[in-house]
Amino acid sequence: MRQGLLFFKHFSEHAVSEYTKSAFSLDPPTRYHLQATSFKNMTFDTPLSDIATIKKPTLAKLERLELRTVRDLLYHFPFRYEDYSLIRPIALLASDEKCTVIGTITALEIGQTWRKKLFLTEATLTDGSGQIRLVWFNQRFIAQSLEIGITIRVSGKVTRDQKGLVMQSPAFERASRDATHTGRLVPVYPETAGLTSKFFRWQLSGIFQKLEGFPDPIPRETLQKLHLPSLKVALFSIHFPKDEEHELVARKRFAFDEMLFIQLRSLQIKTLFETARAIPISFEEALIKKFVGTLHFALTGAQRKACYEILKDMSENKPMNRLLNGDVGSGKTVVAALSAFVTAEHGYQVALLAPTEVLARQHFESLSALFRDSGHGIALFTGSYRILDNQKTTRPTLLKAIGAGIPKIIIGTHALLQDDVMFENLALIVVDEQHRFGVSQRAKLQQLSFESKDGSKEAVPHFLSMTATPIPRTLTLAFFGSLDLSLLDELPKNRKPIITKIASSESDRQKIYEFIRSEIGKGRQAFVIFPLVEESVALKEVKAAVAERERLAKDVFPDLTIGLLHGKLKPKEKEAVMRDFNERRYDVLVATAVIEVGIDIPNATIILIEEAERFGLAQLHQFRGRVGRGVHQSYCFLFPGKTSGAYNERLKVLEKSTSGFDIAEADLALRGPGIFFGEKQSGMPDISMENLTNVKLIQIARDEANHILTTDPLLEKHLFLKEALQIFEEKIHLE
Ligand code: ADP
Ligand code: MG
Repeated sequence: MRQGLLFFKHFSEHAVSEYTKSAFSLDPPTRYHLQATSFKNMTFDTPLSDIATIKKPTLAKLERLELRTVRDLLYHFPFRYEDYSLIRPIALLASDEKCTVIGTITALEIGQTWRKKLFLTEATLTDGSGQIRLVWFNQRFIAQSLEIGITIRVSGKVTRDQKGLVMQSPAFERASRDATHTGRLVPVYPETAGLTSKFFRWQLSGIFQKLEGFPDPIPRETLQKLHLPSLKVALFSIHFPKDEEHELVARKRFAFDEMLFIQLRSLQIKTLFETARAIPISFEEALIKKFVGTLHFALTGAQRKACYEILKDMSENKPMNRLLNGDVGSGKTVVAALSAFVTAEHGYQVALLAPTEVLARQHFESLSALFRDSGHGIALFTGSYRILDNQKTTRPTLLKAIGAGIPKIIIGTHALLQDDVMFENLALIVVDEQHRFGVSQRAKLQQLSFESKDGSKEAVPHFLSMTATPIPRTLTLAFFGSLDLSLLDELPKNRKPIITKIASSESDRQKIYEFIRSEIGKGRQAFVIFPLVEESVALKEVKAAVAERERLAKDVFPDLTIGLLHGKLKPKEKEAVMRDFNERRYDVLVATAVIEVGIDIPNATIILIEEAERFGLAQLHQFRGRVGRGVHQSYCFLFPGKTSGAYNERLKVLEKSTSGFDIAEADLALRGPGIFFGEKQSGMPDISMENLTNVKLIQIARDEANHILTTDPLLEKHLFLKEALQIFEEKIHLE
């Protein structure tokens, strides 16, 4: 994944700046004749199970990648290309070179290596200028497609051993065939679920041959205006590019498609909000005073302004659609709580959505405390909790209570979005850490707010989303074009800026451990964070965290109590760990990245992050925000792994700045926009990630979306576009 992103970044820079400059004329795809074609009536919707060359076990693997139709396979893009376009005479080959040779097989040996009992295929290839050995291990089927006298094209990496030049496990195909696996820019696909790149190349070349039509969602005039290739050409070029330029133009086209879909949705939602009616919640100062009076602190200026903007919006009879964007620790919860309080006081219900159960539970607890004397029922509804006013209850009972309007404040995860959850009179939806829900899931959330049944059909709830990821302006434009914005750019006054230090040596490490011990001696607590690794190796991550806990407990802090939090714990276990830590049963909490979201433990004043360079700056800033929430001075220690100095340079931004917005801009410049959305959660393909920073692309897509919707608001004259937009949305489902 990461690799892919870097790859695109490399190209997107000049690609996008050239966006409208030049017209690329692309040749129609070269014809393929790889497989015998018995039928020629394949469409985008043909199920893969109808393709004779895809067998049952393979279908199961494809299913694991959610690849079910021809369309799915066509949109399964390579994440990089191997450049084998250089064709060389054997005499000129050099060691370590990746290239292609064309020659005749003059010798062929099939056998076993005597020591390891490996099955071995060895061929000698001659092209008149010299000869090279080709070797394959344990690939018995290889021998079947080789014979002395045939001419093949071979691509791979050249090495030299005692016997001379050799290529190990090279790709090859008959020289008489069109280049698919060799002699060109060869696409490399994410090889998960046991599917090889070779498989994808083979199937795709067959599909291109048999496809009847390419339902292009983008109107022809738009493509012409923007000098973008047709869908057919773009798909072909992305899988089998003639050269980098073709591939690049294809990527631009798909980047545009996705940006256009996003903008179409955003504009449609905007229109929905503008034309919808909502329940006005009247702005009463007395209520605000009543709530603020129960707080043990004064609101910051930024909080007051945000509250004002929100309550003002809510007092209108059209729905609020606002994003509350505030740095970690800027106090978003209390702003949400005030809006919830006012709504409940008017007798209406509020739903507060959090991305995780731990966070939902935390909100439930803090809001229960805030509203203790208010008399408003509070419920918690997640996959594993159903609680009404601190009493455990069953799902049906809670559903009934919510439907009867008994709890006024309902806190939950996306479990709340299920079809059978009906409110009596929902007037406000708040979504916390909404960036965690992913780009298009957010769109879905907003859409759902229109579908939530609230008894009075015409009214739509007000919508407030919150994010602690300071989002650079350019991205706000791309994704929140339909939202109004409130900023919390001021931290509560009692905060002391967190002191951040990068450990640069083993002796630093020892000193820091000593320091942590002394702070814990004064009654404070510490987090130790372990790097996030990809999901496939989540178990490894857990192991690393378990091992680190043990190491700390044995060698470093034998006298302290150490807790452990990782992603494999069940929600209840996680929550128990958090509660124990909050109640100071642990001095130190070793945690994986699951700690990131919104955890609030004011007595924890130290956070130590291992292998810090593996995180993005914005994410590190999020981690850092776990401390510095109380009255005590807080510290953040960054321990780089065994990597080069360049990474440490990047970390220095954190030593210098405590402003989330500055750090976000720095991170955007350094690593691209994917980090702001989490590639997985966003459900967005990498391509658009890389193009998000491009204001021009966003603007063009927005203008185009506007243009299309003014003449055809329901996309009735753009049926392929309508369909593609639907598929785009379906792909991005709530987890
Ligand atoms: P975030 O914006 O990261 O969600 P929270 O809402 O969790 O931040 O608030 C962080 C902490 O700051 C909480 O303990 C909260 O009670 C406290 N807090 C919020 N607003 C203020 C304020 N104006 N003055 C002092 N403390 C505040
Ligand atoms: Mg929060």
